[in-house]
Amino acid sequence: MPLYEYRCASCGAKFELLRRMQDADAETVCPECGSKGAGRQLSVFASHMGGGGKAETAPCGAPASACNLGRCPM
Ligand SMILES: [Zn+2]
Repeated sequence: MPLYEYRCASCGAKFELLRRMQDADAETVCPECGSKGAGRQLSVFASHMGGGGKAETAPCGAPASACNLGRCPM
């Protein structure tokens, strides 16, 4: 069974649950406050694509993508 990550909309608690795929979006009770408003996080892809990752920066301080494209302001 895949491991899913949930976040409670009421208290903000994060927790993980092993669930069958077809139950991934079923009603989820928060273990912290008992609220039923917990929602599934798109953990693997979301954290990989966006949250908290540090952007690559070229030695001059510009985004690496700008340098790679020949648009480095330095
Ligand atoms: Zn909660």
